[in-house]
Amino acid sequence: MRAVVIGAGIVGLTSGIALRRSGIDVVVYEHAPEIRAAGAGLGLWANALAVFDELGIGEQVRAIGKPSEMYFHDPAGRLLETPEFGAEDHQYLLVHRAKLTDLLADAVGRDNIRLATGFQAYHEHDDHVTVRFTDGTSEDADVLVGADGAYSTVRAQLVPGFPAQEHRGHHVWRAVIPTTGFTVPDDRLILGHHRCRGGYVRTYDGHVYWLLNQFDSPPLTGTRKEQALERVVHLQEDGQNSLLAELIAATPEEQILQNQIMLVPPLPHWVSARVALAGDAAHAMSPHITAGATLGIEDAALLGGLLTPAGDVPAALAAYQATQIPRYAHVAQLSAAVEHAPTPPEFARHYAAFSHWMISRQTQHPEQHAVRA
Ligand SMILES: Cc1cc2nc3c(=O)[nH]c(=O)nc-3n(C[C@H](O)[C@H](O)[C@H](O)COP(=O)(O)OP(=O)(O)OC[C@H]3O[C@@H](n4cnc5c(N)ncnc54)[C@H](O)[C@@H]3O)c2cc1C
Repeated sequence: MRAVVIGAGIVGLTSGIALRRSGIDVVVYEHAPEIRAAGAGLGLWANALAVFDELGIGEQVRAIGKPSEMYFHDPAGRLLETPEFGAEDHQYLLVHRAKLTDLLADAVGRDNIRLATGFQAYHEHDDHVTVRFTDGTSEDADVLVGADGAYSTVRAQLVPGFPAQEHRGHHVWRAVIPTTGFTVPDDRLILGHHRCRGGYVRTYDGHVYWLLNQFDSPPLTGTRKEQALERVVHLQEDGQNSLLAELIAATPEEQILQNQIMLVPPLPHWVSARVALAGDAAHAMSPHITAGATLGIEDAALLGGLLTPAGDVPAALAAYQATQIPRYAHVAQLSAAVEHAPTPPEFARHYAAFSHWMISRQTQHPEQHAVRA
């Protein structure tokens, strides 16, 4: 069996690894000339690490990460406690995105990745799918996986009329910088006023990842640094949490990433007989739950578990969709509960409820993570 995966992001590359482990020939197509990842940190939760363990790369991933904890403070520096949840519900691994995609690309095998080759369209036949690329070439495969992100071209053909939408007024600023010249005694995530939240987390290699988000932001004016500094005051009170402002002020303007958050609306279907969507292509969601990649990694594992060299592709994709669409309807509910929490303590509690649900599901439904050795 042969699979074509579109997109060499975290989910496309993990799909490539999972499908190869299932004994399927895989080629991953990426339209960029290199494997690239916006240079910032990424939190991976226990369910994603369980997938990487099953794929045989868990230790390598841990080696480029720092075990961290997601606890929130208020602007006055007080911890927002969530006594109904255990320590494990707050634990995640902070990795550098670019290092993760490099590691995943090595695990897929660089020979199995075609760079600078964009997906253009597909044509489905009874027993195969023909995939056409922007350079005029085409390839026949048994299955096509669209892991081409929030602006997915595969989705545009498979599910017309569901383009990515702006999460109106939701903006984020972030950077990874060296800690040189700073003392960063701990990690700190703050739920502030005016729907702002943010903080900083130390990386495994002596850097610090800072981020700042705002829901319902007024229109942006000024430089990216000015925008972030204008908002960081909403995270400070009584002289507390001043380090975040210092980190922002010390970051060169060109190193600050600023994004308008984009969402993919709930889709009526994720698959056809031989085409499936995975990752942000299927479910780009608001990063206030910091779990889009973690959940997309599960998509990849499930595809790898369901597709087998001699198996029935349409049946496997139907099973994938039957599992994932209801799962994401629930994710959307839990995510909305966090977003619309009326107070910071309730935000913290709904957040812990979401991570508890997400990570405990692996023990309740181990078959979701089935990836054969
Ligand atoms: C501010 C922010 C913070 C976040 N923090 C976290 C976090 O801490 N933890 C977490 O789990 N998630 C987090 N997320 C979510 C996470 O970043 C995404 O869910 C994840 O990166 C999606 O990966 P992907 O592989 O599906 O898509 P992408 O990373 O978008 O990759 C898609 C790939 O497809 C390629 N491509 C696109 N079109 C084509 C085409 N036509 N032909 C060929 N290739 C194509 C692109 O170049 C790209 O390489 C965060 C998101 C944001 C915005």
